[in-house]
Amino acid sequence: MADTPADLARLLMGAEHAVVLTGAGISTESGIPDFRSAGGVWEENDPMEVGSMATFVTEPERFWRFHRPRMDMVDGIAPNPAHEAVAELERRGLVKAVITQNIDRLHARAGTQELIEVHGSLGHGVCLRCDARISGDELKARADDAEDGVPRCSACGFQMKSGVVLFGEPLPAEAIEAAHDHAIRADVMLVVGSSLVVAPVSQLPGIVVDGGGKLAILTQSETPWDHRADVRLHGLAGVQLVEVIEAIDAMEVHG
Ligand SMILES: [Zn+2]
Repeated sequence: MADTPADLARLLMGAEHAVVLTGAGISTESGIPDFRSAGGVWEENDPMEVGSMATFVTEPERFWRFHRPRMDMVDGIAPNPAHEAVAELERRGLVKAVITQNIDRLHARAGTQELIEVHGSLGHGVCLRCDARISGDELKARADDAEDGVPRCSACGFQMKSGVVLFGEPLPAEAIEAAHDHAIRADVMLVVGSSLVVAPVSQLPGIVVDGGGKLAILTQSETPWDHRADVRLHGLAGVQLVEVIEAIDAMEVHG
């Protein structure tokens, strides 16, 4: 018989240290295009090229012409019921942390507190020369005020980048370490909207399973870990996770 949201609810309620791992699939339900699929802004510019460290360093104007509208696009999109449900699970103490591949800040805006962004995020700006950090709003304001559209560091004058990890840039060590720590401690890992093929998150389910933990997977497409999942749900994450919360409510009422 196919697994149900109630199965996932039971798994989470029995967990000591449940961790959620999310990928692009949770945000496509908010209308954010996955850059791997065709269409929109990605068609005119190859993100692997224009969104790379090489372009940022050698052609900052071109980089920011591409990057600046992308920041507005993400600002105009709201968290969806899946982000809300994940935040609600944390509020209820049923989830200890959220590890995400997404850079869109939608988990934070939905209220998730313990958030590990392994590909960085749009929430701040950083200077690669002197390590100065500014808010995302300040970064946008500086880009808009600059004649060439390139935000610059007020301390050293170098062009600033957002906190998003660029192609050709190392992943943030602190976030990777925190993700591994949570995977080691996790007795349940719930995967939402990640195809589990991109490192480093592709390694995390193995850490959980090797440590005796259980795996739940909620994605529309297949993943390499489906055969090891204790609970496997398909369909829209928003719909399924709202049903999980309802199942938890019912179990709490009826003991
Ligand atoms: Zn600087």
